[in-house]
Amino acid sequence: MNKLEKIEQEVKLCKKCRLYKSANKAVAGEGPASAKIMLIGQAPGKEEDRTGRPFVGRAGNYLDQKLKEAGVDRKKIFITSVVKHYPPGNRKPRADEIKACKGYLLRQIEAINPKIIVLMGNVASESLKEEEAILGKKIIRTCHPAAAMRFPEMGEKFTRAMKTLRRAAKEL
Ligand code: URA
Repeated sequence: MNKLEKIEQEVKLCKKCRLYKSANKAVAGEGPASAKIMLIGQAPGKEEDRTGRPFVGRAGNYLDQKLKEAGVDRKKIFITSVVKHYPPGNRKPRADEIKACKGYLLRQIEAINPKIIVLMGNVASESLKEEEAILGKKIIRTCHPAAAMRFPEMGEKFTRAMKTLRRAAKEL
């Protein structure tokens, strides 16, 4: 079992916060351990909770489309979220839940050692503020695809971020 699989096993058994009680499947993340790009969202939604896979619902379809348009192959990137269990009713994860889950995210970053990290939405954006300087990665901050789907200006912002990602990926 590699480091990433070990983290996934732990996430599946995690009881560090209340979310495991109401969630169906934990969503540790998906993608190759050798990924040079990591995409980080907020928390699994209903469809992710049902399938155990990240970004497979409506926001996921939107993300797939935007990645495709920018020429970025989803299969080559690692996709996860700050919080690994579905918050009931799709509510925003609470501070203590984010804190409880943070170790998994940091360990995933360490195991994968990506060159570029894309933080999607405020929860993700805030999550690595303290570590950013020591991580030494290129960080791209943008809005969450769920917001990008709904609000045209955010959609434009998201599209620009995907283009920035594409350019940065080319330089790797
Ligand atoms: N939104 C997220 O932040 N993560 C997912 O996996 C799905 C939707």
